[in-house]
Amino acid sequence: MSELTPLTAIGEFALIRRLQQGISTRQPSTVLGIGDDAAIIAPTPGTELVMTTDLLVEGIHFDLAFCPLRHLGYKAIAVNVSDVAAMNALPTQLVVGVSAGPRFTVEAIEELYAGMRLACEAYNVDLVGGDTTASRGGLTLAVTALGEAPAGDVVRRSGGKPTDLLCVSGDLGAAFLGLQVLEREKQAFLADPETQPELANYEYVVQRQLRPEARLDIIHELRELGVRPTSMIDISDGLASEVLHLCEASGTGARIFTEFLPIANPTLEAAAEFNLDPITCALNGGEDYELLFTVPVTDHEKLKNHPDITIIGHLAAKEEGANLVTKAGQAVPLQAQGWTSF
Ligand code: ADP
Ligand code: MG
Repeated sequence: MSELTPLTAIGEFALIRRLQQGISTRQPSTVLGIGDDAAIIAPTPGTELVMTTDLLVEGIHFDLAFCPLRHLGYKAIAVNVSDVAAMNALPTQLVVGVSAGPRFTVEAIEELYAGMRLACEAYNVDLVGGDTTASRGGLTLAVTALGEAPAGDVVRRSGGKPTDLLCVSGDLGAAFLGLQVLEREKQAFLADPETQPELANYEYVVQRQLRPEARLDIIHELRELGVRPTSMIDISDGLASEVLHLCEASGTGARIFTEFLPIANPTLEAAAEFNLDPITCALNGGEDYELLFTVPVTDHEKLKNHPDITIIGHLAAKEEGANLVTKAGQAVPLQAQGWTSF
């Protein structure tokens, strides 16, 4: 194993210089990236800017016992890009704050940045600055992203109408089951460090937990289809909670149908093994980072056969409340958070 460099050995400025290596900019609106007191951005005429920030705290949002730093770096960027996407905007620039305790090495932080660079490439966004400090504890990441959309195209949570269709991208519940698998393997490892992790059968759900993708592809596709959602939100806390957010902001109720919820086969299999109801995992498991959005009924034709978008129900009059309709046709009021362990 090659020598690892303690962060204290090189100091803040040398670290920033090393992190800066390999970071290039690609957005025409980025005039100046890392290196000055602030980045310079030239907003594209006719666009509106959106801005969002997320904090990731070790021990609260991630566990380095099973989350590789490269994946963590990728995820830190992806969750911000997901918020930008949820506004129907495209990310352009971001800044990253890193606070790391004495057990982290220069190489560890470089690994983190390797993941961030991959994500910046995947989402076509520029890392234009940040801040770096020591910490007495673990690792904290703060990412702030800027995005843009043609003026008037930004989509809020509040634009849904009672007759709109409710749609989700991708599939739900996998990230939560991935976390169950990783927690189980961690406990097995703590009990007996000789055990080898058994992750092969759970590749899909584990990857959904460790390396979620922001659905920027869906934003591009909706534009191509000429569909502008009336309201939108990304699914970070679970479908039920996000449906309730949309309903509250839009002043509507909703009806979603259990039989339409998109759940992938590996998720069904893992749920069976953990004795969990896959529907509950889809409704209340967090961190799927799919998009939940509403469209006018007139867009039904454009979306009904889309391989990666599922119509799961529709909004309704506020008085009806937000309900989950079971296969037997029974309506149950939607509730956020079925897991007391959160
Ligand atoms: P200041 O004293 O103004 O905060 P710094 O020395 O912290 O300046 O930062 C110098 C440059 O390096 C700035 O452009 C800043 O945005 C950038 N930078 C600092 N830390 C990071 C980081 N973790 N990731 C990316 N860029 C960083
Ligand atoms: Mg600074």
